[in-house]
Amino acid sequence: MPIINRIADYAEDMTSWRRHLHTIPELGLDCPQTAAFVAERLREFGVDEVHESIARTGLVAIINGQGEGPTIGLRADMDALPMQETTGLDYASGHHGRMHACGHDGHTTMLLGAARYLAETRRFAGRVALIFQPAEEIIGGARVMVEEGIMERFGISEVYALHNAPGFDEGAFYTNPGPIMAAVDTFHIHIKGLGGHGAMPHDTRDPVMAACGMAQAIQTIVSRNHYALDDLVVSVTQIHTGSADNVIPDTAYINGTVRTFDKGVQAMVIRRMQAIVDGHAASFDVEAELNYEVGYPATVNDPDKTAFAAGVAREVAGDGRVLAEAGREMGAEDFSYMLEARPGAYLFLGQGDSAGLHHPDYDFNDEVAPVGASFFARLVEKAQPLHEVSGMEQA
Ligand SMILES: [Zn+2]
Ligand SMILES: [Zn+2]
Repeated sequence: MPIINRIADYAEDMTSWRRHLHTIPELGLDCPQTAAFVAERLREFGVDEVHESIARTGLVAIINGQGEGPTIGLRADMDALPMQETTGLDYASGHHGRMHACGHDGHTTMLLGAARYLAETRRFAGRVALIFQPAEEIIGGARVMVEEGIMERFGISEVYALHNAPGFDEGAFYTNPGPIMAAVDTFHIHIKGLGGHGAMPHDTRDPVMAACGMAQAIQTIVSRNHYALDDLVVSVTQIHTGSADNVIPDTAYINGTVRTFDKGVQAMVIRRMQAIVDGHAASFDVEAELNYEVGYPATVNDPDKTAFAAGVAREVAGDGRVLAEAGREMGAEDFSYMLEARPGAYLFLGQGDSAGLHHPDYDFNDEVAPVGASFFARLVEKAQPLHEVSGMEQA
């Protein structure tokens, strides 16, 4: 595959960075060792500015190209997951109960590879902002970075990101113009009744029956309340109550997740769920409280930027190895916050057969790191080409 030769030259270095990062997985906003490693590499490459401690342990590095031009943003997430690795690899996690099971070690490595090349060659106009973000899996580090003002502070005009895709052809890309990943919300329902003897239900106000009724009724939001051609998932994923066969408990809890693409559909779900919780509480003679948490918004690609990025991906991966209109998924991604702030595109990079994301046997495929790094590098060179600068200067 026509990856950039110079980047192919440091494939071995990229593998060693990636495997080192794999041994030190960190969680949420607390990625100090990862951030320190990234900052050290960036300074070694001779980038022009390294701004640390954004969103606690995030970084933004700037590489100046030649002449005036806009600032393009490239983002990699750095955080891992709270789970125990079972790969048995010699570079397996050295942090007990934490693991790079989503390949963010690979994402960080690919952006470092692009940084090294861009700092060395500088065949582009304007500037590149390399965004290394913590807390993709929880909290939404992307939101924190946007709220801390990175787009304005660094004058970023467009943003791009990659995620690896197990089970998709090694080194091939896919993306979608418009919505690509769903909005993710969670809900928690706390039901309070009155417990008592299992043989004397008439003396109780049973939260178990109320929970069963609510869980059933919540599923009718999908089947009865929304237009069948709109995307919507409502899943009750937990019901907790009770401790003994002959005791009616005082309380019950229902938790679950909601996935949407449309804010109107999301508002309808919230409205209906509240009505179901209130109505069932009244009819079962219990108290119930709904705590609905709106999470990451839908990830929406800018159609023009997506077409442009797909063109660059074709150059790197080859014609026929890029699915530019692959459709959307019900998973979620906090890059959505950056795409709400600036136009851009989110793409997947196939990593061949492997365990799935968030699986304890998962490992990022180092073979695709030079492909991702080449994609980022070519994206910059094509989005902000040198000849347009000289044209602007003449004008
Ligand atoms: Zn993940
Ligand atoms: Zn991920």
